[in-house]
Amino acid sequence: MDVEQINGDASKAIKSISIFGATGSVGTSTLDLIRLAPDQYNVMVLTANRDAEKLAQLAIEFSADLAVIADETYLPVLDKALTGSAISTAGGAKALVKAAQIDSDWTMAAIVGCAGLEPILTAIERGKIVALANKESLVSAGDLMMAAVQKSGATLLPVDSEHNALFQCLTGGSLDQVQRLTLTASGGPFRMLSLAEMQNVTPAQAVAHPNWSMGAKISVDSATMMNKGLEYIEAHHLFPVGLDKIEILVHPQSVIHSMVEYIDRSTIAQLGAPDMCIPIASALAWPKRMVTQCAPLNLVDIARLDFEAPDYDRFPSLRLAHDAMAYGGACPAILNAVNEVAVGAFLEERLRFTQIAQLCETILSEYDPASPHGLDDLLAIDSKARALAVERIG
Ligand code: NDP
Repeated sequence: MDVEQINGDASKAIKSISIFGATGSVGTSTLDLIRLAPDQYNVMVLTANRDAEKLAQLAIEFSADLAVIADETYLPVLDKALTGSAISTAGGAKALVKAAQIDSDWTMAAIVGCAGLEPILTAIERGKIVALANKESLVSAGDLMMAAVQKSGATLLPVDSEHNALFQCLTGGSLDQVQRLTLTASGGPFRMLSLAEMQNVTPAQAVAHPNWSMGAKISVDSATMMNKGLEYIEAHHLFPVGLDKIEILVHPQSVIHSMVEYIDRSTIAQLGAPDMCIPIASALAWPKRMVTQCAPLNLVDIARLDFEAPDYDRFPSLRLAHDAMAYGGACPAILNAVNEVAVGAFLEERLRFTQIAQLCETILSEYDPASPHGLDDLLAIDSKARALAVERIG
């Protein structure tokens, strides 16, 4: 995305808002920020997958027009909880896409996984502002998504803290003046463990991130460092400077969220407390700024910032993402799909932690379809890769 090409209508006094994935970690933080200035936002659409009770509570609190539950079997629970209210309800994956057609000014894409792809594409096609947290959809369908942005003139605002940091740093220059984009990585909870020690880690240990409070899937991705691999692919699509100009740097304190080095060797970094409300606020108020209740950055207390090179042997997911993007075609979609299945199986204790990357590598080496030419192709590849992963896990 070229920062200079941004053209959304962000200056309206009251913004109408849709939040896909409203009950999750990012969705909840978005609503926390809206609570700080409720008269500036009109919440139109809220969605969840199964947490109908929480969705109903939020829909009532924010007087939403529509609440959508993706897993249709939970629609009766949602209907019951909203009986007597003026809030419309709907259920199922198609209802999510229909909800994305509702003409809100600002859409938060915070569904986890590729399940968010079709609603995001639909929201992009409306040509308004889409705040993108759902990295899996961009990893899987980056070319499609960026082509849709170009065609509709939508504004895609990165919410992932690293990409939001790059986005902010890029206001200091243009993409053709970039020497290097540095994505920082905390290294996750197993930064100091050997591969052998990682064999026996539990889901509870993997989701206990040292710095960030996040949903279960992204927490496991942070522990394998697949998260940083996915972010590498995400950065390539959002800021097309060339893969050789995107680097990963381990920075355990998560204070510098990413950096842009320009051709004159001047480097601009974005810093802040590790709190997702900061990048979300930047996207919600964009192109302005809003007051938040986030902790100020206290560098005296932090005292030191450490950096180290990523270890591609102990964290093979990084290498897999690197290779998948370099190979291109269907590889990023396959990698993402298998990883989603593998992380789910790990969380259910049906797969070991180190088998997540192994499974991705196996299926990437066995399944080599032609490059996808459109959404149907891509969804077929995604389904096939998932089926292969499920079969392997047994
Ligand atoms: P959570 O697991 O906390 O929340 C996910 C949300 O998506 C929930 O509202 C959930 O509903 C909904 N959802 C889950 N599965 C489906 C489905 N199949 N169809 C429709 N809706 C579904 O995730 P996070 O908030 O942590 O992450 C959301 C996205 O943002 C991910 O792509 C993640 O990588 C990205 N991200 C997250 C960050 C974070 O700090 N959390 C940081 C940067 C990026 P329900 O509650 O009913 O299950």
